[in-house]
Amino acid sequence: MQEANKIWMNGELVDWADATVHVGVHGLHYGSGVFEGIRAYETPKGTAVFRLSEHLERLERSAKLLYMELPYSQEELKAATWDLIGANELPSCYLRPIAFYGYGQLGVSARDNPVDVAIMAWPWGAYLGEDGARKGVRLKTSSFVRFHHNSLMPLAKASGHYVNSILAGYEARRNGYDEALLLDVHGYVAEGSGENFFIVRDGVVKTPPLNSVLPGITRAAVMKILRDASIEVVEQTFPRDAVYIADEAFMTGTAAEVTPVRELDDRMIGAGVPGPVTIKVQEVFRNALHGRDARYRDWLHYV
Ligand code: PMP
Repeated sequence: MQEANKIWMNGELVDWADATVHVGVHGLHYGSGVFEGIRAYETPKGTAVFRLSEHLERLERSAKLLYMELPYSQEELKAATWDLIGANELPSCYLRPIAFYGYGQLGVSARDNPVDVAIMAWPWGAYLGEDGARKGVRLKTSSFVRFHHNSLMPLAKASGHYVNSILAGYEARRNGYDEALLLDVHGYVAEGSGENFFIVRDGVVKTPPLNSVLPGITRAAVMKILRDASIEVVEQTFPRDAVYIADEAFMTGTAAEVTPVRELDDRMIGAGVPGPVTIKVQEVFRNALHGRDARYRDWLHYV
């Protein structure tokens, strides 16, 4: 990763190399942490963080789902984010707030460990590659099923949950694909290892409901963009064969932004190139991120 100067850790800005923890922290052993992935973009009015409040609210909800009390308020975390971006002098960056059970006891159910909180910021380009963002990515239906909400909680962005994503993402990449598409326990399409998923057929956009997928902030933004463009979008379960015969498909996420999908399981989707709805959404979303669309100005929080 590309290093930056400073990391905000437990209330202070520390040098990048000094933002370390003890090997006995609970979160490292059991994944008892919650985190966010946020991006800040260059705009004509300076650096702006995309939907910071929504991300910090999701962090708080994730913590609640893990019985965790965050030792900092939303306002304090916002101020920390500004301080961090300022200290690193990054015109655009990826931001990673994380809160985890720290050093104390190592029993699985230990509850009295302190909660450590850190925010990292560093430059990060297109998550699924520049080529992927332009031409579309190739997906493989994963042999790993997206976890059920009675095993873990898809509404939480929790560290431990990501073992499911790691297994799926690694399997797909080892087999020569760009990303995995996970199905839910009922066999319906859920999401990518780090992205929400959409298909387009006969002008209607479909995305799986929030049963076994992360409530993506990009997903919500894209749904709003589609509706504002009078394109129908429905939250509906659909099986993998609906993807094979879709006209278009795309993935959304903070890291991946809007990434077209050109193949699933070696079957070409539509014409095998990004379709008109995908291109439109990508363009409006990109303009919104960079402060070029007045309709979405309130999605940007200026540093
Ligand atoms: N699903 C998963 C599993 C993810 O990790 C992410 C990335 N946070 C997303 C969906 C997309 O969410 P967002 O748009 O909020 O980044």
